[in-house]
Amino acid sequence: MIIKPRIRGFICTTAHPLGCAANVDAQIGYVTGQVGIADGPKRVLVLGASGGYGLASRIVAAFGCGASTLGVSFERPPRDSRTATAGWYNNHAFQARATAQGLYAKTLDGDAFSDELKQQVIDAIAADLGQIDLLVYSLASPVRQHPRTGELHRSVIKPLGETFHVKTLNVDKGIVHEVDLEPADKAETEATVAVMGGEDWEYWINALAEAGSLANGFRTVSYTYIGSELTWPIYWHATLGKAKEDLDRAAAAISARLGDVDGTAQVTVLKAVVTQASSAIPVVPLYNTLLFAVMKDQGSHEGCIEHVYRLFVSGLYGASSEIDDVGRLRLDGWELASVVQDEVLRRWSVVCTENLEELGDLEGFRADFLRLFGFGMEGVDYTADLDPMSSEL
Ligand code: NAD
Repeated sequence: MIIKPRIRGFICTTAHPLGCAANVDAQIGYVTGQVGIADGPKRVLVLGASGGYGLASRIVAAFGCGASTLGVSFERPPRDSRTATAGWYNNHAFQARATAQGLYAKTLDGDAFSDELKQQVIDAIAADLGQIDLLVYSLASPVRQHPRTGELHRSVIKPLGETFHVKTLNVDKGIVHEVDLEPADKAETEATVAVMGGEDWEYWINALAEAGSLANGFRTVSYTYIGSELTWPIYWHATLGKAKEDLDRAAAAISARLGDVDGTAQVTVLKAVVTQASSAIPVVPLYNTLLFAVMKDQGSHEGCIEHVYRLFVSGLYGASSEIDDVGRLRLDGWELASVVQDEVLRRWSVVCTENLEELGDLEGFRADFLRLFGFGMEGVDYTADLDPMSSEL
């Protein structure tokens, strides 16, 4: 089978096994080309390990710190003539590379919100690692079946209060147009908090603490985004922002619970990047297209792997952490610098379909998007006839 990208809106329904492996290799190559992190964690659990910021975190932990890693994700293996999801290929590639380096790596695919998956992780930690030093919470999901009530919560990406009239980008067609985004009601907002808020993070820590899986000095981080005022009406001041605000509450509750292992929980604010999750948020692709152009011009652009490496060497395991007044670890300073935001704002006010190429980096955005699914990687023969069932990567 010759595997080509099949794009449906903001998702690509195919993934290229060799391209995904090349993408994992490129990220490993970046990390091994940097200075190693001597004081980094040695036993790490990453929830949401198969793509985006979670995969980058697993790669930095393993190849930057020499850590044993346990990864959890929700990915689909290949079936009949359908390719697997990109995350499934990423997991396989990561696992093969880590094992070849003598690093322990185990991946559990299943619903991280469930009690069953939590128990499987606890068992794997007990059997293979003893305890963990770091838990990275990097799940991004549209649904969560609540493990206590059985209720299926569906998150929505909507503004709050009133209709938001805004510019947005049809990435496929390269057209800038205007949309009206209708506000969420109370039930939708609560459902979004149930899916993307801090309750599941707390459940994870409670379960792991009760099982004695947390090492002394244990740390946990949960990733969040705040962004600039351009995206606030659809992000930070919207349903997703309400869910993310709940992480602050959870971080305080978790930190209080971690006293006996001298542990800490921190919400960590990261920059905007292209991932499967962020591609689904209206307005964000247009904002990212302008932001990337400006940050590339100014030499401060980072993708997931560069950004997470910097998180580990500065805020997490280095000396130079920037903490805000709520106690969040901030890595988004470069994105939010006024020299960047003033220019993004200026471009935003005039951007239209005709000048998008000149003001934005649509090409870079599209390339990042395709790379998420293993397409457009250098050195990969995309004309090769492959068996999508093969995990020979
Ligand atoms: P992503 O879509 O690339 O990855 C999501 C991960 O969650 C995947 O590994 C997926 O398999 C896993 N997952 C989803 N549902 C699951 C389930 N039920 N059980 C187990 N695993 C499940 O997402 P991302 O953009 O890397 O987001 C990760 C975190 O980073 C989120 O909290 C997000 O808000 C935050 N963040 C993202 C950005 C951005 O621009 N993408 C910026 C700042 C912060």
